[in-house]
Amino acid sequence: MQKYDMTIGGRLVAADRYEEIRNPSTGAVVGLAPVGTMAHLEQAIDAAEKAFAHWRRSTDAEREAACNTIARVVTENAGELAQLLSLEQGKPLKGLGAEFELGGCGAWAGYTATLKLPVTVIEDSPAKRIEMHREPVGVVGSITPWNWPLMIAIWHIVPAIRTGNTVVIKPSPFTPLGTLRMIELISAALPPGLVNVVSGDNDIGAALSRHEKIAKVVFTGSIETGKKVMSSAAPTLKPLTLELGGNDPGIVLPDVDMSKLVEPMFWGALINSGQTCGALKRLYVHDSVYDAVCDALVAYGSKIPMGDGMDPQNVLGPLQNERQYRKVIDLVEEAKAQGARVLLGGSPRQGSGYFYPVTFLADCRDGMRIVDEEQFGPVLPIIRYTDLDAAIAAANGTQFGLDASVWGSDPAQLAAVAKRLEAGTVFINKHAEIAPNVPFGGIKCSGLGVEFGVEGLAAYTTIKIINAAV
Ligand code: NAD
Repeated sequence: MQKYDMTIGGRLVAADRYEEIRNPSTGAVVGLAPVGTMAHLEQAIDAAEKAFAHWRRSTDAEREAACNTIARVVTENAGELAQLLSLEQGKPLKGLGAEFELGGCGAWAGYTATLKLPVTVIEDSPAKRIEMHREPVGVVGSITPWNWPLMIAIWHIVPAIRTGNTVVIKPSPFTPLGTLRMIELISAALPPGLVNVVSGDNDIGAALSRHEKIAKVVFTGSIETGKKVMSSAAPTLKPLTLELGGNDPGIVLPDVDMSKLVEPMFWGALINSGQTCGALKRLYVHDSVYDAVCDALVAYGSKIPMGDGMDPQNVLGPLQNERQYRKVIDLVEEAKAQGARVLLGGSPRQGSGYFYPVTFLADCRDGMRIVDEEQFGPVLPIIRYTDLDAAIAAANGTQFGLDASVWGSDPAQLAAVAKRLEAGTVFINKHAEIAPNVPFGGIKCSGLGVEFGVEGLAAYTTIKIINAAV
């Protein structure tokens, strides 16, 4: 069985204990992941600190080149990494799956390499010259989830390196293998210690967030854990970027053209079998088009193949782990008992793997957990509305604020509704689209700060003012 190791200070480091990582489609063991200890974490932080002493003095051109190297390495190894990702995460190789995720890794790294944070002259007068410089923060601690493990790792690592920082990353214990291998490959092409990885249990994440030598934490995961990270980071007043859970609403207006919009609506909700922070997770549909929207989604969704990720026919995969699988089953069963009407799917698939079929639930209401909570699975609750103001109030009336969307035909009305929706991103006639040049982040409990673009890059720096008398 293939064993994977941690990368610390440019070298592969073995652990005393290894854990089997299983394919959620079949239950077969994919590989063995090292269970890192606090001693490994200390070694990794020391290695990153040592590397920072040099890397902080690197030129802008050297930092840009390092990010281009990361882009090249992930692109050259995309085939191997996509295969490993598909096996441990469950997402199919094809469709919006593992190959798509690796394509995103290369694209994000390459684009982020081109970003600049030049010195800004704030005042240049006969009396003084005031400049604003961007300085690296130091050793960045990165903590990642299991849904898009490699892309999110790249989102954390590349802007850190681009701005002169070094990194210690801790992947999710559910999906560590792809990250361990990707960092091994990246690290071999960069100065030692720039990027280090320590796999292991949740307590490694907690210790990383608390550690006095970690200058910043970038965390992507659940709201619950995000709050723990914030409190662990409080004693050392670390800056944080938190990308947390979402429960994105979509509002469908009476003039929607489903013949054009069923495809983006379906994939906006079902991408990665719904295991996507910024997926459409509750759909408010006007009474006049309710049945037509439900029919269109069912007709489209019933044709989408779900199954083992290695089969190129499949474009949807299983839930990644048993905990998530049980959660989705519970939420749907409870909704059914409360009067939700199953239009498609609605019970777990028989056979091996954590497969839950594409499920559309009609007659859902606010107050049902399937509507109020983040389901993180291939299930979309559909809520009927007659009063647009009430639908907007329901869409906004939660702790979440990642994305939202509005669907219809009249540009003025779409823009007016978009303006009233409370979210970091509001989409019109689409959902769940991200790009490396567009800042992305949640408001309310969905997050703190943004990633991507110049604004995302700036979050890995501190401002230093040089104020000179002339
Ligand atoms: P999670 O919060 O359970 O785990 C995320 C990471 O935190 C894992 O690496 C885990 O080991 C670590 N961790 C656990 N306890 C910790 C602690 N006390 N201190 C520090 N680290 C700790 O999340 P998950 O189940 O892996 O991922 C799913 C969640 O992530 C969903 O809520 C989803 O919406 C969210 N997510 C958000 C975004 C975004 O950009 N907003 C992107 C992807 C996923």
